[in-house]
Amino acid sequence: MQDILSRLGLDVSKGPVSGVYAGRWIASPSGEVTDSVNPTTGKVLGRITAGGRDDYEACVTAAEEAFLRWRALPAPKRGEYVRRCGDALRAKKADLGALVTLEMGKIRAEGEGEVQEMIDIADFAVGLSRQLYGKTMHSERPGHRMYEQWHPLGPIGIISAFNFPVAVWSWNAFIAAVCGDTMIWKPSHDTPLCALAVQRIVNEVMEPDGFGGVFNTIVAPPDPVGEAMLADKRLPLISATGSTRMGRRVGEVVGRRLGRALLELGGNNALLVMDDADLDLALSAVLFGAVGTAGQRCTTTRRVLLHHSIADAFTERLVKAYAQVRVGDPLAAGTLMGPLINPRALAAMNDAVAAVKAHGGKILCGGTTEAPAGLEGGFWVQPTIAQVPSDFPLLKEETFAPLLYLVKVDDLDHAIALQNDVPQGLSSAVFTTRLQSAERFLSCAGSDCGIANVNIGTSGAEIGGAFGGEKETGGGREAGSDSWKAYMRRQTCTINFTNDLPLAQGISFG
Ligand code: NAD
Repeated sequence: MQDILSRLGLDVSKGPVSGVYAGRWIASPSGEVTDSVNPTTGKVLGRITAGGRDDYEACVTAAEEAFLRWRALPAPKRGEYVRRCGDALRAKKADLGALVTLEMGKIRAEGEGEVQEMIDIADFAVGLSRQLYGKTMHSERPGHRMYEQWHPLGPIGIISAFNFPVAVWSWNAFIAAVCGDTMIWKPSHDTPLCALAVQRIVNEVMEPDGFGGVFNTIVAPPDPVGEAMLADKRLPLISATGSTRMGRRVGEVVGRRLGRALLELGGNNALLVMDDADLDLALSAVLFGAVGTAGQRCTTTRRVLLHHSIADAFTERLVKAYAQVRVGDPLAAGTLMGPLINPRALAAMNDAVAAVKAHGGKILCGGTTEAPAGLEGGFWVQPTIAQVPSDFPLLKEETFAPLLYLVKVDDLDHAIALQNDVPQGLSSAVFTTRLQSAERFLSCAGSDCGIANVNIGTSGAEIGGAFGGEKETGGGREAGSDSWKAYMRRQTCTINFTNDLPLAQGISFG
């Protein structure tokens, strides 16, 4: 473990490391010393000195100062820096992936997969740096030309959740960087070392050319630093990933100052299995979607809506498949599920299991908190399947844990209605071999989510698409497609190359 940390430049053996980079490392930040805990063992991985208000001011100053120079670079040149950041990540993929596993608890393949996602989005952003296209329009006035162009926004704030401790930053940061923005990252308090390792990796590329202040990081609690970011008019955009509770607060505070908020919040994703589905496919998709990352993905499959005619047979196979899931040390080969992030997550899972029982639901497997041998200090639950009636109240809530609800449905219409009858609207999937059912699910009368899949599970989105969800998921879009527009300001320009001054709408004035 110490080897991994020291190869990433994090020497935690001599005492707390600085949690603030404001164009340079702040040697003694003014916040409290905080522990990074390994959820597999419950032991401290390292200690970090968090940032306070004055350190936050240093971050803003660094980001503002760097912005003036960064925005002046042509976008393809900014892309070149991002390309080199991607290469620096390639060189550190195994170590950074292992740190994600150590600090967050996802299995090694998923930890490395997350770093691969950073590399992929860097590649995407490099191409994008030559494609920040604006439209041209035909003016209604003779001798006039109209077009729109896109300019950088300024320094922006990125607030991220624990469950994707590095990839979510890159979705925002690499796109924002080619757009010409600089940024301040407040990572989750649960995963500070991952953030500090990423900051060190990109520093290798940015610092030698005096561009350290493009990417800044402050490990700090929501209050006072997170709150300061929300209220800060110097940050025209706050991109926030996390719970709906947090997003509501971000929306309120940023909205009050008429800033922009890009919100990526909680999901409550359903997977529909119809009577004509390929059940082998559906089974694999449910298993990965519900158990992967120990149910701690925003796109985790939380509800499986089963056509009544295949429900019993499918359930039996699913319970058997769950029995094969190896729960244990996420760094060990063969492990499919690691721990939950912290004791609060464990308590939330236990409460939900108790509620299933109290409301007449049935726990078909799991539901317990036994730890793998030798790992008793960690935060362990077993992957759990609960059969519940369609009016079970927690079906409408996101419990961020490997707790899967099975509900029987009459037909596709019933399934779509149940699926949409929740406050969240992130990801959704139908398994069917009938064209009519697939198209109905994708129609405007079908899924109301930001992501709708056919014969693919709810989790594991590709970076090329715009990622995000509707309703209480917040409405933001990140990563591919035209999501870059959120990080820029649009300007409509009209040029008159005549000696007249005709007014629009044919208005004659004087
Ligand atoms: P969380 O809401 O507890 O914390 C997320 C981040 O918000 C942290 O950095 C936290 O410090 C910060 N924060 C909280 N209150 C704040 C405030 N008042 N001001 C400023 N910052 C504040 O979420 P979590 O437990 O880390 O992550 C799990 C949640 O994130 C789940 O609900 C999951 O669905 C969601 N999530 C959504 C997406 C998506 O793209 N839709 C992706 C990943 C995670």
